[in-house]
Amino acid sequence: LRQMSNPLLLKEMVKKTIDLGEKVLDKTKKRPVFMEVCGTHTVAFSRSGVRGLLEGIVDLRSGPGCPVCVTSQQDIDRVLEISRIKGVTLATFGDMLRVPGSSSSLEKERAMGADIRIIYSPLEAIKMAAENPKREIVLLGVGFETTAPAIAVTLQEARRKKVDNISVYSLHKTMPNALISLLEGKEFAIDALLLPGHVAAITGYRSFDFIASKYKIPAVVAGFEVFDIISAISSLLNMLLKGESRIENLYSRIVTETGNITAQKMVNEVFEQGDAIWRGLGEIAGSGLLLKSLYREFETLVRFPIKITEASPYASACRCGDLLMGKIRPFQCNLFRKICTPNNPLGPCMVSAEGACSVYYRYDVSD
Ligand code: SF4
Repeated sequence: LRQMSNPLLLKEMVKKTIDLGEKVLDKTKKRPVFMEVCGTHTVAFSRSGVRGLLEGIVDLRSGPGCPVCVTSQQDIDRVLEISRIKGVTLATFGDMLRVPGSSSSLEKERAMGADIRIIYSPLEAIKMAAENPKREIVLLGVGFETTAPAIAVTLQEARRKKVDNISVYSLHKTMPNALISLLEGKEFAIDALLLPGHVAAITGYRSFDFIASKYKIPAVVAGFEVFDIISAISSLLNMLLKGESRIENLYSRIVTETGNITAQKMVNEVFEQGDAIWRGLGEIAGSGLLLKSLYREFETLVRFPIKITEASPYASACRCGDLLMGKIRPFQCNLFRKICTPNNPLGPCMVSAEGACSVYYRYDVSD
């Protein structure tokens, strides 16, 4: 760690990476397009200034790795409908509160009287349910492979403690099939991927082997320190220069080949793969986590079948969908900074602390 924060070493690494990038530019005559899949990497690149430093040699795009951002408009509208049901208390992580649905948000619904409570751990929902036996607690499950284990444990606990006024609306998504969908897309070519370190910690880096073997694209699993992200870019440039496509694990202090088996078992006991709708990417088969029939009694939509009635006034103006697919960067959305700001977010990418628009707004002065 001491080595990682040595400024002289970092300076040397940046210089070497830029030299490498220039060699790639000489060879290919174009800036390679790299996608940082994970929202935490988007923050790391912008906050550290590394995005700006490497601007001349790499075209860095953000990807579909912010769970709040990839939640579809339909799902947001459905969550709003759930929050309006009499007797329901919605338990959610705070970053969902200001995400605009078609004509409202959880924040607005709460101001109009809906019982919406912010939690920091899914297990808090069990305590909430036990203390409010006359209310139905709906736990909003938004996240990737990293969040699902905590929701799984919560339901196992609820069953063990015989708490039956709790259910889960699972909007969980898993990464591999979303990446396949991106790489199969013909309109936009990605030259290399910086893979999500947190997800890989659960799934193991081998779960991303298909990127190199089938799509012949180099990919690196990396951590989130400045040292990590520069090393990752350097490694990807190196592979491009040599014409190699491999999965390299530069986050071995956290990520192993096979991942966290205990967490995988917990998830597999409660969830099964199902289809999910991603903002921008659309419906992707096998990219969601749905409750297994063994846990169907905890499924919110079984307890409360609901309909969506709202219109979508901003559906065509907000370009979060294009952004999550790496087709554009925030500056290319006409609403960015002019109408859409953190105080007046028109899409989830401006709401979430890991959404690309919010990150660029805070840290990147110009394109
Ligand atoms: Fe959507 Fe706002 Fe981002 Fe534009 S700047 S893509 S409107 S969130």
